[in-house]
Amino acid sequence: MKYQFHIQNPNQQYVQITVETVAIEPNPIIQLPAWRPGRYELGNFAKNVKGFKVFNGQGKRVGFEKLTKDSWKLDVGQGEKIKIEYAYYANLLNAGSTFLDASQLYVNPVNCCVYQKGEEHEPLTVQLHIPEHWKYAGSMKQVDGLLIASNFDELADSPFICSPTLQHNSYTSGETTFHMWFQGITKPDWDRLIEDFKKFTDKQIEKFSEFPVDEYHFLFHILPHKAYHGVEHCKSTVICLGPSYEVYQSLYKELLGVSSHELYHTWNVKAIRPIEMYPYDFTKENYSRMGYLCEGVTTYMGDLFLLKSGVFNLQQYLVELTARFQMHFDNHGRFNYSVADSSFDTWLDGYEPGAPNRKVSIYTEGSLLAFVADVMILKNTNNKYGLDEVMRRLYFNYALQGKGVSEADYKRELEAVGNCSFDEYFAEYVYGNRSYESILVDTLEYIGLELIQTPSRIYSHGRLGLKCIVDHDKIVVKTLYPGGPADLGGLMIEDQILAINGVVIQNNLDQWLSYFDDEEKKLTIIRGGKLIELVIPEVNRNFYMEQTIVPVENPNGHQKKGFNAWSN
Ligand SMILES: [Zn+2]
Repeated sequence: MKYQFHIQNPNQQYVQITVETVAIEPNPIIQLPAWRPGRYELGNFAKNVKGFKVFNGQGKRVGFEKLTKDSWKLDVGQGEKIKIEYAYYANLLNAGSTFLDASQLYVNPVNCCVYQKGEEHEPLTVQLHIPEHWKYAGSMKQVDGLLIASNFDELADSPFICSPTLQHNSYTSGETTFHMWFQGITKPDWDRLIEDFKKFTDKQIEKFSEFPVDEYHFLFHILPHKAYHGVEHCKSTVICLGPSYEVYQSLYKELLGVSSHELYHTWNVKAIRPIEMYPYDFTKENYSRMGYLCEGVTTYMGDLFLLKSGVFNLQQYLVELTARFQMHFDNHGRFNYSVADSSFDTWLDGYEPGAPNRKVSIYTEGSLLAFVADVMILKNTNNKYGLDEVMRRLYFNYALQGKGVSEADYKRELEAVGNCSFDEYFAEYVYGNRSYESILVDTLEYIGLELIQTPSRIYSHGRLGLKCIVDHDKIVVKTLYPGGPADLGGLMIEDQILAINGVVIQNNLDQWLSYFDDEEKKLTIIRGGKLIELVIPEVNRNFYMEQTIVPVENPNGHQKKGFNAWSN
């Protein structure tokens, strides 16, 4: 297959794409991926395809029939040349999208490149018709002005940015060169970036013993507005971050966090892959219950490697760990649906809040369970091994042997390295809904840390079990603690709170709630266009407790040893 990209009128944001190939069978089927790896939900990319046309070897239009939302059956015979033309609407700029304007062409081929079914494993070329002074950033190799990929999987996994304003630098770790590309309004602080990136890269490679690929590209889109998003690939990652002026200020720890996370994915998910996704089937949902491995372990390790490599000190690391604990304890979904079931359901609503208290996050719950597994292994091996060793074995014994990893494989490797049973861990915590609290406390204790739970300092959270957001100066209910005062008082999600005890609220809900602390609280709300008054009952307990993780004051010898093994 030969792909060509043209960008005639970038302000219209349509990328013109042509694909030339030969029909491998009569009435071949042309497919556009239905989803993209890294985001386990349908992408519906075909909604951006305009003017789909097919020509034969003589340049004559040929007919086709649309089979599904993203596949086409062509009226051509076997062995005939075909040329497919279409335009792809590229108006979305995030870490997994395709975007075109006068300043850049940014392509995730998985969004916009069709393939002939049965021809996925053949080598292919990509030709870019872009202004001469534009640079190219991406992992596909260039040969004689063409980008080459050994199969469709590689193309789908190789995003690229073309622009006249790309900024580039690189560093090496072992034999491997790591390229850093920045696009957008940004002034890269190269010395700081390279020093920190080299540290966590070296440490990850040290733990795995080798890097899976021969070179790597960090593709950063720095945006003028708020953004935080990363997507992993075999030999690269795309990371969106903004606003620009915060990138080396408050966002710098996010830049490091997401970069370390995406780099870890080079092993965990791009190489070590759930068996259900080995290989990827781009035509439909690839259900897997193993989000706790792909995203859970990666989330845990992404942050932990910043500590292990000395990029973060313990205090900085504990800020991140505490945030995971907070999200976990604040979500009532943990009593209803397991992390494994939630992983299966990412295809439904894994990337949005969804129905209240229905499900949990594969990132949050998965990372906490990874933490528990790591310390269980340390504990049972006299601090000789941790979760690192399990991941290293999955890499050498599965990924490098061309095998996917099943749930039973992961459990077996945990037990082999940890020299202990993971029956209860899986039955009660991965597949079940038992509270994590006691295992988390035990885990922290082993390495000399402790969890402190204090009443929330935010009155509406702590005393009413109510979380609101301010939307265009309106105070809107977003979360209700089941059985909390706000819930018992009859509040509903999306209610707009107007007044408390007759006083109109203006972005000062908590101040007025505190003011009326010892009085009955009557809320005036707007619901479905009607004014309603509700009385909030008194409940003598706290909700949404604030979680804090701190080092114990006088760690004993065991705890010091445990901590050293865990953090090195
Ligand atoms: Zn991830």
